[in-house]
Amino acid sequence: MSSATQTSAGHGEWLIKGATLAGGGPADIRVSDGVIAEVGPRLDAPGASVVDAAGLIALPGLVDLHTHLREPGREDAETVETGTRAAALGGYTAVHAMANTEPVADTAGVVEQVWRLGEQAGYVDVRPVGAVTVGLHGKQLAELGAMADSAARVRVFSDDGFCVADPLLMRRALEYVKAFDGVIAQHAQEPRLTEGAQLNEGEVASRLGLAGWPAAAEEAIIARDCLLAAHVDAALHVCHVSTAGSVDILRWAKSKGWRVTAEVTPHHLLLTDDLAEQYDPVFKVNPPLRTRADVEALRQALADGTIDCVATDHAPHPVEAKETEWAAAANGMTGLETALRVVHRAMVQTGLLDWAGVALRMSVRPAAIGRVPGHGQPLVAGAPGNITLYDPAGETPVDPAGHASKSRNSPFAGMPLPGAVIATFLRGTPTVLDGKVTR
Ligand SMILES: [Zn+2]
Repeated sequence: MSSATQTSAGHGEWLIKGATLAGGGPADIRVSDGVIAEVGPRLDAPGASVVDAAGLIALPGLVDLHTHLREPGREDAETVETGTRAAALGGYTAVHAMANTEPVADTAGVVEQVWRLGEQAGYVDVRPVGAVTVGLHGKQLAELGAMADSAARVRVFSDDGFCVADPLLMRRALEYVKAFDGVIAQHAQEPRLTEGAQLNEGEVASRLGLAGWPAAAEEAIIARDCLLAAHVDAALHVCHVSTAGSVDILRWAKSKGWRVTAEVTPHHLLLTDDLAEQYDPVFKVNPPLRTRADVEALRQALADGTIDCVATDHAPHPVEAKETEWAAAANGMTGLETALRVVHRAMVQTGLLDWAGVALRMSVRPAAIGRVPGHGQPLVAGAPGNITLYDPAGETPVDPAGHASKSRNSPFAGMPLPGAVIATFLRGTPTVLDGKVTR
């Protein structure tokens, strides 16, 4: 495995030598004063700090549309500091922080607090997601306009963890955010159909005696919301798509030209519901792991553009919330530090995507969907110096004990995965070098 090495001191200027550009050939990248100054063969930059990137893939810094940073309120699970450090180690330069904190991020005050904590930590740009409804209760619209106008400049709104189940409220939210080019990100889960649900409704859940979470409960909401988004000509984003049927509905909505986008998580691209046979709640997540056929459909949909992008749904939980019996355990998995490696395994090693395709789905499109300025841009002169260097060689087992996240609930623990993130640059300054945070 090759490694990136800083060979001389220096602050503002970096020379990345011999990286392979995602979608291009080998090139040197010179970064100066926060921006990419030059990309080309055999560049010279006397006095610059040098990174030997031979054998490494250079991608635009990754952007996550779906991260739970847990602060304020659940600092025992994660803080903005630990979660964004994990993000940088996973190759991310921007993350969207979900609103289901304590208090809920449903006011300008809370989203500004989260945004400021992100600025102070300095690892990635933190883009707070605002709640759609007050307290995530699904009864009354939150102060969407005030959050949009705040210093946090919120553009993505979601009650994630809960579905905006009331169709009239969902319609009003979609209409409201049009005024500032916002998007409603829906956690698609029909609540009545999923009361007490524990696992994908199917053979495995029946065998284990666990209450089923039917695919139709996701698909019905996605179909409804696509119709609503079309009706009011607004932007809908569908969180963590998990079923083959959802893919069919999204394909239909996109064929109509409606403003609908969608994400899939790394775990839904790799893992299946039969893992629950171990009764290990590390595999408990919402929406649940589905069948092999669903995984295949999700991979195809991500490859053909029906699903726009990958989002981690990084959901850290303290040990006591996960190491308990299945029915009592919290839903959710960590994911920031393994996402690119999982996508490498599920999409690149299977021949479904090349690295340019990965860059599109983990940086370019999520930045566009989240309206994130300065991210998701191709690595060309003049672009901001947001760069991820990834070593595709080798394979190592995932070890959550070594993760920067405060929580350890990775479903990939012990699983051999390819590759490693070697370096991450945020606006021309390395946050990660040699696979370690720089401070
Ligand atoms: Zn969710």
